[in-house]
Amino acid sequence: MSDQPNGAYQVLARKYRPQDFTALIGQEAMVRVLRNAFERDRIHHAYVLTGVRGIGKTTTARIIAKGLNCIGPDGSGGPTVEPCGVCEHCKAILESRHVDVIEMDAASNTGIDDVREVIEAAKYRPAMARYKVFIIDETHMLSKQAFNGLLKTLEEPPEHVKFLFATTEIRKMPVTVLSRCQRFDLRRIEPERLIAHLVEITKAEGAEIDEEALALIARAAEGSVRDSLSLLDQAIADGGTDAAAIRAMLGLADRGRVLDLFDLIMRGEAKAALEELRDQHRSGADPEATLRDLAETTHWLSTLKISPDLASDLTLGAETAARGAEMASRLGMRVLARTWQMLLKALEELARAPSAIMAAEMTVIRLCAVADLPTPDELVRKLTEEGASGGTAPAPAADKPPPAPPASKARLSVAATGTAAVAHPDPAPVTRAEASPDLSHLPQSFDAVVALISERKDGELLYDVETGVRLISYTPGHIQFRPATGAREDLSGRLLQALSKWTDHRWIVTVGDAEGEPTVSEMRSERMQSLEQRVRKNPLVAAGLAVFKDAELRVIPRKRLSAEESDALSPDDGPFDDDDDLFGED
Ligand SMILES: [Zn+2]
Repeated sequence: MSDQPNGAYQVLARKYRPQDFTALIGQEAMVRVLRNAFERDRIHHAYVLTGVRGIGKTTTARIIAKGLNCIGPDGSGGPTVEPCGVCEHCKAILESRHVDVIEMDAASNTGIDDVREVIEAAKYRPAMARYKVFIIDETHMLSKQAFNGLLKTLEEPPEHVKFLFATTEIRKMPVTVLSRCQRFDLRRIEPERLIAHLVEITKAEGAEIDEEALALIARAAEGSVRDSLSLLDQAIADGGTDAAAIRAMLGLADRGRVLDLFDLIMRGEAKAALEELRDQHRSGADPEATLRDLAETTHWLSTLKISPDLASDLTLGAETAARGAEMASRLGMRVLARTWQMLLKALEELARAPSAIMAAEMTVIRLCAVADLPTPDELVRKLTEEGASGGTAPAPAADKPPPAPPASKARLSVAATGTAAVAHPDPAPVTRAEASPDLSHLPQSFDAVVALISERKDGELLYDVETGVRLISYTPGHIQFRPATGAREDLSGRLLQALSKWTDHRWIVTVGDAEGEPTVSEMRSERMQSLEQRVRKNPLVAAGLAVFKDAELRVIPRKRLSAEESDALSPDDGPFDDDDDLFGED
């Protein structure tokens, strides 16, 4: 850790390059194995060091070379994992001028001729040191011929020769070579470890950068000491001392604002969410980065739900971490899974959108629109736990996939936000048409089309069809509709494409001028009102409403009953008086 004698500035990665294994952080397992081998005089003749770039492969190779040739301060020492650093060999290796330690970069010397030189040199005894050490960087870049040339030497290695191969891509190394080497996998440095290292160096440099900021650097470096030190260099040069400055330097969004936006979306507050998104955009956030941040947040909250340990993120301040924990406990896993899917789809579609901000806004709008759809099973679970239901109903398995329509029955669930929601069967299809023989595999009603979209789990198309289609006419293979206000312009095209693909039949989807039926979602909300009174009388719902005092009752159709099942239900009973049906998954 000495300063350059001439006072010139030396980059941190170089200045703090470990000179021995004690300074090499995070690679204890490898050091243990090496120590063992050195002490028992069982030093392998070839080692391959693998790991991501910047992890310390070449540095490790140089330390091993020193250890192999160190003679100690008094000139009488043997091979050691604690090279003295002061003997002529240690010094010469440190300065890359040792005649018996030959470094070669395979990235620029890939051919057989380059290797031939190595092979020739290996035949001669070392000039002054104990071992002739060949350090070959990026070994995987060698040509096949070069590897073959090397192989002969590896098969019968002269006693005075040691090979140290470094590579980022171990899979590109021939097995014949690997099988003759002892392999060390250099690990990414754990964030805690890297942060502690950065804290030390920051202190040694007399710089003042707070720990949250260093944690951001450590995260951006992804476990690479060298990258983290380069970033630290930059931070010190920029004079950035706090998390905000480092975020700006790394081009990261403010995590708190990302959480603000995420929270608004999850609460379904479309107007506020859009305003927040636009504000972030105005202050320079890239819409694509915002969508990625939302996806990252979704992943973080999902992991947090499974285990706070797995989700621990040192780049977060205590306040943000606490906020995340609160949100994770409030949001259902299925909601998070659905959000993840929609965000990934949005990112895929981004390139095709007229502009990135439009795509981001549409995504936020859609996420808000589905935000208050119920999560399955949660009321049931809550009621079962609290004994409020009388405990007679069996709770369905939480992760069981929902059954495909139309076989399933009504379900009852409540979102964790305290919104009670009750599913109920849909009514008769809008239009029934006789199928011609060769079209019998197609959906026989528009309702069946909607069911098919739902079955295919295309949530976006489902939402657009349910809110945007005023059906004028339906025959299998042919849909005519009038777009509802606000319907997307490409709806008919997307519907046509999806149906044609799923049914292997060329569909005709046209837009007409006739008034058309109300949309599925309009019909649904109309029905909901008349259903609500009946639903409220259901004992389980009544119990649910008693538990969630401020709950709003909302009736939402989730499943469709088959005609047979519909017939079996007398209008007075309704599905909700039958406890067994309520929880039937199929
Ligand atoms: Zn030495």
